[in-house]
Amino acid sequence: MKINEIQSKSILTPSSGFITKFTHTLNPYAGCAFGCSYCYVRQMPIALYREEEWGTWVDIKQNAADLLSKEIKKAKKKGPVTIFMSSATDPYQPIEYKARITRSLLEAMLIEKPDFLFVQTRSPLCTRDIDLFQQFGQSIRVSMTIETDLEYIRKAFTPSAPPIPARLKALKQITEAGVPTQVAIAPLLPCSKQIAKTLRRVTSRAVIDNFFMGDGSRGRRTEKMGIRNIYGRLNLLPWYHPNAYKVVLKLLQQEFEDVELLISQQGFMPNQ
Ligand code: SF4
Repeated sequence: MKINEIQSKSILTPSSGFITKFTHTLNPYAGCAFGCSYCYVRQMPIALYREEEWGTWVDIKQNAADLLSKEIKKAKKKGPVTIFMSSATDPYQPIEYKARITRSLLEAMLIEKPDFLFVQTRSPLCTRDIDLFQQFGQSIRVSMTIETDLEYIRKAFTPSAPPIPARLKALKQITEAGVPTQVAIAPLLPCSKQIAKTLRRVTSRAVIDNFFMGDGSRGRRTEKMGIRNIYGRLNLLPWYHPNAYKVVLKLLQQEFEDVELLISQQGFMPNQ
């Protein structure tokens, strides 16, 4: 993994594309060590114009916290500030253990508070910051990506991402600490019929999307990345279908009162 320390010119980005519910996005890092096979960032300039392959490099934005307070203050002059962290990286990828950039951003936001903070991750490391999450009260939601309840499926699509049992445990811990949470089944991957019951034990809200609703191009971008081949290798091609999500959505609706179907125009952030 190639790790670089960089100084950013700015840290808060006005949102665009699929992130319509938030005014800004916040990325503590560029690059992502999880390197998920379907990550749409692979198709973005930040990854395309880089020599190294996506998933093999991370830039640490060393001055992120210094910039953030000033930028939130400025943005607030124009209206409410609602932040999505993160849209093009995972804020709790392994380097965060040591670099603590995400934690420093949370601390900065407890001084200069946004109107709402949405934290999207697939990493159990986020439990380290429960003490800070709690201080946001109801102005925060922590969303954990869990696209399947089957470890062999997780390993096939996202071999470097944290194991599913560890994510379930982490989400339960955050929910039990009184922090608003949700699970993001995004993008839906092949799963068992138990998935809804399993997820309901760790949170009370679920959102779901798939490659056809969520990749911003009705599945074309996903097709281009060759994701179909992974389904083929697993002998699970029937799951690679625009309607496959309906069965899982029904199961979720039986268990959850709060279920949202995510349909985005630009591309799902896996981190969503
Ligand atoms: S999908 Fe999210 S966690 Fe996976 S590589 Fe992309 S940014 Fe990282």
